[in-house]
Amino acid sequence: MSKIFEIAGCTLIDGTGREPLRDATLRAVDGRITAVWTGEDRPPAARCPADEFVQAGGRTVLPGLIDSHCHISYGEGKTAEEVDIYGGAEWAAVRAVWNAQKVLHSGFTSFCDPGSTWNVAVTCRDAINNGMFDGPRIFAAGRHISADGGFADYFPGWLGMPVSAEGVLCPTPDSMRSEVRRQVKNRVDLIKISGDSQAQDSRPDAGPCFTADEMACIVQTAHGLGRKVTIHSRYAKTVAAAARAGVDWVIHASYMDAADIGLLRDLQIPVCPTMTYTANIVQHGREVGVDPNYIEVKKRELDSLVKVHRRSIEAGIPMMAGSEAGFSVTPYGLWHAREIELMVELLGMSPLMAISTGTYNNAKAFGWDNDVGSLQPGRWADLLLLESDPLQDIRVLGSRRSIAAIYKGGERVEKPDAPAVRRRLGHERSLAVSTLPLTR
Ligand SMILES: [Zn+2]
Repeated sequence: MSKIFEIAGCTLIDGTGREPLRDATLRAVDGRITAVWTGEDRPPAARCPADEFVQAGGRTVLPGLIDSHCHISYGEGKTAEEVDIYGGAEWAAVRAVWNAQKVLHSGFTSFCDPGSTWNVAVTCRDAINNGMFDGPRIFAAGRHISADGGFADYFPGWLGMPVSAEGVLCPTPDSMRSEVRRQVKNRVDLIKISGDSQAQDSRPDAGPCFTADEMACIVQTAHGLGRKVTIHSRYAKTVAAAARAGVDWVIHASYMDAADIGLLRDLQIPVCPTMTYTANIVQHGREVGVDPNYIEVKKRELDSLVKVHRRSIEAGIPMMAGSEAGFSVTPYGLWHAREIELMVELLGMSPLMAISTGTYNNAKAFGWDNDVGSLQPGRWADLLLLESDPLQDIRVLGSRRSIAAIYKGGERVEKPDAPAVRRRLGHERSLAVSTLPLTR
């Protein structure tokens, strides 16, 4: 027996950037959208009555939001040790499925995890897809592929990278190839490269920790196995090398000049600036005990992010919205929509365009645009019903009270009134006083 879901009388923002439809009705059969129409133009095939009918009363409906940068295994850690060493795989996995529910309950029906400790993101994805837990759809990477002195190589040389770390050290092209193959065997959707060298970290002229040949080796191996590739790349030289190697999107790109922007524009490589993490450190770093010098570094980076990405938008580079949820300054279920707000607040986007960055653009980059990211026939009926108009005030997307209902695959998601809280383990004790509050 098919289940028919219908939501009528809404202002429908479809996620593609098109102007909203007034007095719209959306119909889904077995979780997939079959028709969208306005007024009385009901298609003949949509005549039989719905099993679940929602009268929106003029309120706004938009696609379930997508966070393209959420590390579900990091557990709101404050330090590399907390993220990479303590807890173990079992704890990290159980905690991740619990945290994934908070992501869903904040209106994010999908996210990309670009880099996980162990294989937690893949396990969390599978547990949700198997129906064991409520949670968003997850586009999952494994451990970041890194090199000596690269980003994610946090520990002294005599320790190397522990097997529990978010990064995996691949010193030679052979080891890069076999790590990509191993991760694909372990069913990742995405390969993540830790691109920047840490040796010159915080200097805008820093570069990649891989040679051009090494980067090409990773990208070609992943693409040959049908997987997307993204890269952590703050610095221009890393971004340019990654673009030439053929990555599918770049994360951060905090420092770029006109030539780098031109290169991304010509190749139409999307950028996920991830301003939320940086802005939260700048605005709230003191409250959570961040080193004042690091706050200064992040202030300079945020200034550059804003300048650079205003130009990226003007140039026509596709933009993606990702918050970097998963750290103590970006706890789960709270800050995901902040990135869409910052697209408006700092980068000067229209609210309609900013919503597309957190829906359609993200889905397109993952290769998921036939399934999610827009409210068009064929896609999953992943949608939000809002109490107020996000085109008037984009901040309603980040306000729990404004989200009247969340649907995933045409099924209503039961969400608690307030985000769940938990006690923390001994090794997480420092977090009790160093995590941003759970309401805003
Ligand atoms: Zn990240």
